[in-house]
Amino acid sequence: MQHPAPTALPPLRGRVQQEAPLAPLTWFRTGGPAELLVRPADVDDLLLLLRDRPRGLPLTVIGAASNLLLRDGGVRGIVVKLARGFSDIAVDGEGIVAGAAALDATVAEHAAAAGLAGLEFLCGIPGAIGGAVAMNAGAYGAEVKDVLDWAEVATPQGLLRLSAEELGFTYRHASLPQDGVVVRARLRAQPGEATAIAARMNAIRAAREESQPVRARTGGSTFKNPDGHKAWALIDAAGCRGLRHGDAQVSEKHCNFLLNLGTASAADLEGLGEAVRARVAAQSGVTLEWEIRRIGEQAA
Ligand SMILES: Cc1cc2nc3c(=O)[nH]c(=O)nc-3n(C[C@H](O)[C@H](O)[C@H](O)COP(=O)(O)OP(=O)(O)OC[C@H]3O[C@@H](n4cnc5c(N)ncnc54)[C@H](O)[C@@H]3O)c2cc1C
Repeated sequence: MQHPAPTALPPLRGRVQQEAPLAPLTWFRTGGPAELLVRPADVDDLLLLLRDRPRGLPLTVIGAASNLLLRDGGVRGIVVKLARGFSDIAVDGEGIVAGAAALDATVAEHAAAAGLAGLEFLCGIPGAIGGAVAMNAGAYGAEVKDVLDWAEVATPQGLLRLSAEELGFTYRHASLPQDGVVVRARLRAQPGEATAIAARMNAIRAAREESQPVRARTGGSTFKNPDGHKAWALIDAAGCRGLRHGDAQVSEKHCNFLLNLGTASAADLEGLGEAVRARVAAQSGVTLEWEIRRIGEQAA
């Protein structure tokens, strides 16, 4: 197969890499390369890419890749990774305006430092703001949809500013426009007492340490909680806690997390996930739905 050359793209100021390894950018540390990895310099550069890229080339966006299972055959077309140029964080009245590449935890810390409460839930989510909007990330009773004023989304037609309502948030999902890339968001907060905010953040961090393999090669919650159920409890009841396929394992600590113990491939992890789904369906009659986004091609 002929791989597209960087010259197929409009003249960008940001970095373009051909056949770029993506595994090191992901939490699972798995997966093949991007045919073209583009790090746009800024919003204008991204808009140019979206508007003038060859139509035949598919477009994929990755953030901190903490909710992605990137398949071993890699990703065809263009992979956009937002980095410098998209990571500014500013206090804006009783809110925070953050670039899509700003890490959720850093945003929570900025809010705390400014005496703003309500964004503490972000402190333990290991993604970036673009991914938080795209996934309607949430924890400990709050979700992005509860605090989002607007998100700016770059599209092939230009830059849109969309409200929470326009983004159609549902559980771990936002309805973004076709080929839309979140570039910035304003999150609402309210004045709070510094020690109380710090105490809430410490409690969240401690609860995570206690219940999740937070330093492992993982993708976070693998399956969505089905209505009326907890995914981890169904997985546990189906006898899957600790289940292994090679170096892919269902976490002993939190059985809705899959782990790469060292040399697991994406196929090992996805195969293990499918085995878990089959066992849960057989045991409880509930079909688990993947929360982790699986992208790219299976290895040939
Ligand atoms: C240890 C651990 C704990 C976790 N705990 C939680 C938790 O408590 N709550 C929770 O909700 N999640 C949790 N997650 C999952 C993950 O951190 C969140 O889903 C996070 O919001 C994903 O952000 P990201 O930047 O890593 O996105 P990625 O994983 O890179 O991408 C996820 C999806 O968002 C899209 N996307 C990313 N950036 C953009 C953008 N700028 N514009 C448009 N689309 C974009 C991607 O195309 C993809 O479909 C956890 C993960 C881990 C590893």
